[in-house]
Amino acid sequence: MRLILLAAPGAGKGTQAEMLSEHYNIPSISTGAILRKNIKEGTELGKIAAEYINEGRLIPDELMLKVMDERFKQDDCKNGFILDGFPRTIAQAEALSASPIEIDKVLSLEVDDETIIERLGGRLECKSCGSTYHTEHKPPKTPGICDKCGGELGTRADDKPETVRERLHTYHTQTEPLIEYYKNKGLLRVAKGQSEIDATSRVVLEALEA
Ligand code: AMP
Repeated sequence: MRLILLAAPGAGKGTQAEMLSEHYNIPSISTGAILRKNIKEGTELGKIAAEYINEGRLIPDELMLKVMDERFKQDDCKNGFILDGFPRTIAQAEALSASPIEIDKVLSLEVDDETIIERLGGRLECKSCGSTYHTEHKPPKTPGICDKCGGELGTRADDKPETVRERLHTYHTQTEPLIEYYKNKGLLRVAKGQSEIDATSRVVLEALEA
């Protein structure tokens, strides 16, 4: 199963990608997590990525394609994967389609902008392992502490309100056209995000397995 998850920032893409990764026993590849790891480690890629991410803009296609080229070569991609955050532009989708990788399905998870702004306001991220939580919808067992690794939870730099607005604008102008692109290829499935995570997981699985 080679699957692409398309959704606006804060729609629950990462959470559903983790669920699908367990369900199908294949890795979930989050481009945002790869970039944030590079920022934390201070790599050359991280230095460039930070400038774009902090402004809510996408990092250049050419750079992103290089990162993904390397990632697809890793062993764990052999039996499939879930792409959480790639492709994000038509140019990235076309490069993927020109590569030997065959995508099986593309799931668009739809959530309206108002809900997204409310959700990103409460989002927390583990500073060590990158797991995500939400103060209301997915609270950690101990406040401020990651359930998985015991790391400290904090707010993502790009979740501040002005950056969220910019990221939503970026999504609507640059990523949303991919919905039509994959619909025309006959690969698109659509699920409406629900207020509860488990309910969203059910509609996601129904859409993929229908
Ligand atoms: P995410 O964690 O998926 O919300 O990604 C966080 C940020 O990383 C985005 O707002 C972009 O700045 C950058 N990013 C992630 N994936 C891509 C991509 N495929 N192309 C360009 N920029 C990306």
